[in-house]
Amino acid sequence: MCVVPAGAEPTEFKENRIAMRDFLTRLGIEEMNPGASDGEWFGSGGELESFCPTAGERIAVVRQASADDYDRVVKRAGKAFETWRMTPAPARGEVIRQLGLAMRDHKKDLGMLVSYEMGKILSEGEGEIQEAIDIADFAVGLSRQLYGLTMHSERPGHRMYEQWHPLGIVGIVTAFNFPAAVWAWNAMIAAVCGDTMIWKPSSKTPLTAIAMQKIANRVFADNGHEGVMNLVVGRGSEVGERMLHDRNIPLISATGSCRMGRRIGEVVAGRLARSILELGGNNAIIVTADADPALVLPAVVFGAVGTAGQRCTSTRRLFVERSVFDRTAESLIKAYKSLTIGDPLDEKTHVGPLIDEGAVKEMEEAIAKAVEEGGEVLVGGKRCDRPGNFVEPTIIKAHKDMKIVRDETFAPILYLFEYGDLDEAIAMQNGVDQGLSSAIFTTNLLSAETFLSHRGSDCGIANVNIGTSGAEIGGAFGGEKDTGGGREAGSDSWKAYMRRQTCTLNWSRELPLAQGVHFDL
Ligand code: NAD
Repeated sequence: MCVVPAGAEPTEFKENRIAMRDFLTRLGIEEMNPGASDGEWFGSGGELESFCPTAGERIAVVRQASADDYDRVVKRAGKAFETWRMTPAPARGEVIRQLGLAMRDHKKDLGMLVSYEMGKILSEGEGEIQEAIDIADFAVGLSRQLYGLTMHSERPGHRMYEQWHPLGIVGIVTAFNFPAAVWAWNAMIAAVCGDTMIWKPSSKTPLTAIAMQKIANRVFADNGHEGVMNLVVGRGSEVGERMLHDRNIPLISATGSCRMGRRIGEVVAGRLARSILELGGNNAIIVTADADPALVLPAVVFGAVGTAGQRCTSTRRLFVERSVFDRTAESLIKAYKSLTIGDPLDEKTHVGPLIDEGAVKEMEEAIAKAVEEGGEVLVGGKRCDRPGNFVEPTIIKAHKDMKIVRDETFAPILYLFEYGDLDEAIAMQNGVDQGLSSAIFTTNLLSAETFLSHRGSDCGIANVNIGTSGAEIGGAFGGEKDTGGGREAGSDSWKAYMRRQTCTLNWSRELPLAQGVHFDL
């Protein structure tokens, strides 16, 4: 199935690596990069190397933030907040409009960097930057719509209304698989809300963070604002933990595994601050007997193997109605056999590498466990015999008593189930701890509405005739249960980045008390 001969060092990787240095230079990535920025660049912590998951070469080294560096960044973000919060929201939106334009100018280079450092295919790398641009556009419009409600007061001559104020410094913790877009979902919205922020990216993808931060620094400096968007590259257990415990940070927005989310949720709740948690998924598609196979096939294959199964919304479980099970399984196996696995920068490639050796091991362990529990590998199932972290996208025929199907294995494994009636399929879909994304493929209105009803999908995202991955930024994004309950991006997600104030204004010459209480002096 692998297109490159076993054991060979693919020549296209070598050529790409040479071309690569050009775009790294254009993005300001050097051999040694300082990993903290509050407008200026510095870093006095240990060294962190970033490796290309495709061929394993070291791309560059980052000088991480020390505890002192972190404290300096917090100080600068706090100072910047004093002026940024007093800048009118539409003027803040104007800076974000310029940032969106700057990201457009660098879209190609940034997309290549995402692809090079994280391993997703080029069109997904560019798509990720497009998502960052889209959320910038959304935030620009939002900067003129940070509205509150007015209510009728029970007291005569009184007016009551809600207003929304900036919150302060927002801590943004991001996962490796969306090294640019997840920051943008948070940063663009937080910025127009009047917050300043500190970004702690994944240590697996620090260079993308540095490139995005450099662009932001330039745009903010041109507008006379520094310290609004800040970066600290460092380990979760060091800089990350410092941020969680820091009472200067009223909100931590964290994207990553459920394990990480539990820790962050506990610590942040322990100091009565807020968190937005965007955690792991275990997403499923239900295919009814009347579903259109021409839609099912591309949606399932892209959902399961896109980004090499390393999306929070990747399709991990597929429930197919008994009468169309064999036909669906056959067409999926055929499609999987035609996939091109290889260099993510090659436009013909469908599936790039996993992020690192650890991810390959986790996939191998999950497959072994599935087989032990009675699963049957229908296609794939192995690591590719070539350099880099390449694996074969895998389909496993599964049954509902298997424990492994309850876990999110961050790799291209699709568990395939047969079902009898829709209620059974919905129960199996909901019968896991995570609750991020879900979909049904059907041409039957009743099945579609049942899936979307109160007794249907229990996930934050529920789609009809659309796969589980690739959400648009206009809607609120996030999931229920162990996925953490947070919402980011569109709709009214902005409210989480602001503090609500209820104001009652007395324009009468009396002082009536609420609830008719008398207190005569
Ligand atoms: P991870 O949990 O290993 O790391 C995520 C981030 O948390 C990293 O920046 C890491 O350094 C940081 N971190 C870890 N421990 C920390 C601590 N104690 N304090 C502060 N920061 C800490 O996740 P990953 O492997 O980078 O990403 C994959 C996971 O992310 C998957 O579970 C995936 O589903 C999830 N994810 C969820 C969404 C979503 O929106 N729901 C989006 C993308 C990824």
